[in-house]
Amino acid sequence: LEKWDKEYVWHPFTQMKAYRQSNPLIIERGEGSYLYDVEGNKYLDGYASLWVNVHGHNDPELNTALHIQVEKLAHSTLLGSANVPSILLAKKLAEITPDSLSKVFYSDTGSAAVEIALKIAYQYWQNLDSVKYKNKSKFISLNEAYHGDTIGAVSVGGMDLFHRIFKPLLFERIPTPSPYTYRMEGFETEEQASAYCIHQLEKLLQNKGEEVAGLIIEPLVQGAAGIITHPPGFLKQVERLCKAYGVLLICDEVAVGFGRTGTLFACEQEDVVPDIMCVGKGITGGYMPLAATLTTEQIFNAFLAHPDENKTFFHGHTYTGNQLACAVALRNIELIEERELIRSVKEKAKVFKRYLLKLYELPNVGDIRQRGLMAGIEVVKDRQTKSVFEDKKVMGDIILAARQKGLIIRELGPVVTMMPILSMTDEELKRMVEIVYESIKEVIA
Ligand code: PMP
Repeated sequence: LEKWDKEYVWHPFTQMKAYRQSNPLIIERGEGSYLYDVEGNKYLDGYASLWVNVHGHNDPELNTALHIQVEKLAHSTLLGSANVPSILLAKKLAEITPDSLSKVFYSDTGSAAVEIALKIAYQYWQNLDSVKYKNKSKFISLNEAYHGDTIGAVSVGGMDLFHRIFKPLLFERIPTPSPYTYRMEGFETEEQASAYCIHQLEKLLQNKGEEVAGLIIEPLVQGAAGIITHPPGFLKQVERLCKAYGVLLICDEVAVGFGRTGTLFACEQEDVVPDIMCVGKGITGGYMPLAATLTTEQIFNAFLAHPDENKTFFHGHTYTGNQLACAVALRNIELIEERELIRSVKEKAKVFKRYLLKLYELPNVGDIRQRGLMAGIEVVKDRQTKSVFEDKKVMGDIILAARQKGLIIRELGPVVTMMPILSMTDEELKRMVEIVYESIKEVIA
């Protein structure tokens, strides 16, 4: 298998040093918080299989939901026909998301959900048929933003490397600073950093607001950017400015949605209601690829109620509203409710924080950032200067050391990130942090 994997499978990001250091684990099965490779080795899934798993692997209830649906039908199209699971799920999503979000457009990856959000936002203004809005074609996003790997999603992303490589294919984004307090010079507190970023955004909107269709942001935490946690109140201010300057607010909840930060959706914590919201990852509890873009009646009406057929939203993927995915997503959400998962994530987050703070004992831990059950440990060469290790192998070695101790986690630049399965026990969370502690210590002795 190892040989064939090398020969035939093109893994994502394989050229990167951290991944080249070792062969990929060949995972065969999962149970609860653990994954097992083909040799029977057991690993704590500290990455929730790329931030998707909610209730643990091989959950009997989710298995049953899938079995029941597959006995009826695996897939039929949403183009010109409807199906039961996608209707029930859309109703459920409208009920559990912030108030005015009531229209659900299905897709199958977070990137597609973002792509759809951008297209909706742009076309919405065009469909209004007013010269006032004709120039609204640009998007604002935060520095270091990550919203996916498709062309539109990369365009609104803030990763320099991706922009350099794909430059001719991308549309222009308007960047605005992100309150990454740890790496901002001259700011004593996160409140000051936040106020500065909001001030910059306001200046930007004063100058360019009329050209801007939407602002896309990950609420509360920029996950793939290295768990950059935003100060409380930042998102609310962003919402205020979007409203004041007539810019659609797009909340990308692909990573932070479905309980990760201690509320079902992160924007709830600031009482923010976006115009468009993207969800994915945890929506099926890690069982099937599914994503959705939700929007308001008002935006929807600019498409549907328009008399001109050319104002249709021309977008639709083959597997849109897939029955298996929708059935398992619906059961996943019911189980989040039945098992009172949100309350338990909130409680576990406190315990998790206690364990995490111990990592400050290590001189190379510069910053610990956490919201709910997601955490980033910024590893530095020197705490005073905050300099990072030039050799990226160091971070790869930490991840590998953790793997040898039975934990799967991942690094994002100089940040060791933990995104445990939401149903992990306190004991498992403790073990995960202990392994991270031992691994950093072992590699940077
Ligand atoms: N948005 C955010 C915030 C993400 O974290 C990701 C994936 N890490 C995406 C979008 C893209 O999702 P996908 O990988 O399913 O395309």
